[in-house]
Amino acid sequence: VSGGWLLNGVKSYIARDAALITVMARTGSDPQDRGTVSAFLVESGSPGLRFEGRVKTMAFDPDYIATMYLENCFVADDALIGEAGRGFSYAMECLDENRLNIAAAALGLADYAFELALDYASSREAFGQTIGSFQAIGHMLADMSTDCEMSRTALFDAAQRYHHGERSRTLAPMIKLFCTEAAWRVVDKAVQIHGGAGFCRDHPVERMYREVRLLRIVEGTSEIQRNIIARALLSRAPKPAPASPGSSAETRP
Ligand SMILES: Cc1cc2nc3c(=O)[nH]c(=O)nc-3n(C[C@H](O)[C@H](O)[C@H](O)COP(=O)(O)OP(=O)(O)OC[C@H]3O[C@@H](n4cnc5c(N)ncnc54)[C@H](O)[C@@H]3O)c2cc1C
Repeated sequence: VSGGWLLNGVKSYIARDAALITVMARTGSDPQDRGTVSAFLVESGSPGLRFEGRVKTMAFDPDYIATMYLENCFVADDALIGEAGRGFSYAMECLDENRLNIAAAALGLADYAFELALDYASSREAFGQTIGSFQAIGHMLADMSTDCEMSRTALFDAAQRYHHGERSRTLAPMIKLFCTEAAWRVVDKAVQIHGGAGFCRDHPVERMYREVRLLRIVEGTSEIQRNIIARALLSRAPKPAPASPGSSAETRP
């Protein structure tokens, strides 16, 4: 429209208290064409923008996400980020960085869960000995520490490469996938090592068990990361040579 754009649409799971919201909106008619997506900055309180409902989630501040509605929400031309039609590629660039951030959050949770489990295993006694002296517990600690260290090594390497301008279709998805799945394994074992105490509401490992669960879902689920990685791998694989005439089974004697 003259002087700006009218935005319409609905999006679930949006933080309702955000002062500024990045909205990806289709500005062309072809739904299959990624070049018809544009990015806009919408200020909270803009006419035509409203939130409905308060979604209770497993973890984090209760009720902070809601469904966002845009109904003829007018934004001026200067709300357009960059160029019209480049929204999808901007989103992909941000996603890589966000995925590394999610991986870092996962590593932070995993490290803390491991620390708590190690302390508990060294102090809690059962059957006259500390539980850490049971091989079953020691092996869990070994696996947890290995997951933490491998996540740290991979994440720091990836962050450095990203910082120095390296861009790859698979790096951030692989790191996000590995670190969030590893953190999930670590926190799960931390709950196990704490026994009943780990199951009790408001014990730090119980809270982390709920929090870590989100990290395999946001910024693209683990399944979506695997899809991206698999697609990139298969696009690089050598294509089979076209079959020459006479080589098919039907033409054999
Ligand atoms: C607390 C919270 C905060 C959030 N914050 C934001 C936010 O700020 N901004 C925002 O935009 N979004 C946000 N989200 C949304 C979040 O990014 C999505 O929930 C997530 O990307 C998964 O999408 P979905 O819920 O539509 O699941 P769906 O796409 O319906 O997926 C359901 C299941 O199907 C699988 N699946 C779907 N497609 C495929 C496929 N092609 N191949 C294989 N498996 C597939 C998924 O992996 C998953 O297991 C938030 C969500 C939550 C819970």
